[in-house]
Amino acid sequence: MDDCIFCRIVDKQIPSRIVYEDDSILAFHDIDPKAPVHVLVIPKQHIPSINEVTQENSQVIAHIFATMPKIAQQLGIKDSGYRVVVNCGKDAGQAVNHLHYHVLGGRSLTWPPG
Ligand code: IMP
Repeated sequence: MDDCIFCRIVDKQIPSRIVYEDDSILAFHDIDPKAPVHVLVIPKQHIPSINEVTQENSQVIAHIFATMPKIAQQLGIKDSGYRVVVNCGKDAGQAVNHLHYHVLGGRSLTWPPG
């Protein structure tokens, strides 16, 4: 997807601060962090949002969650705790239409979010 900013990050056409990468997923620091640690974890495959997750493409979702503790450990937030957020669609404020998991930590986070 030439017009997708996260696909362009996957293809290294746009630089990012990568914290983890393998064949099917990429994790990189958010450009506008909302917490001391704010990383985005994405499937390399272009899935626009949760609404497009299917039985056929969902293996990568399990892989993201299986890898998240490793990423959290690397970021130093595994034991202190962290929040994982996915915005889906307009009302949730999804700004980038490439499925991404926000991983936030490094401070005490309030609940519920606004
Ligand atoms: P959303 O609102 O859930 O779609 O979140 C999109 C996130 O992508 C926001 O937190 C942005 O700060 C982040 N973002 C947008 N462009 C870039 C970029 O080029 N590099 C890293 N993060 C980005």
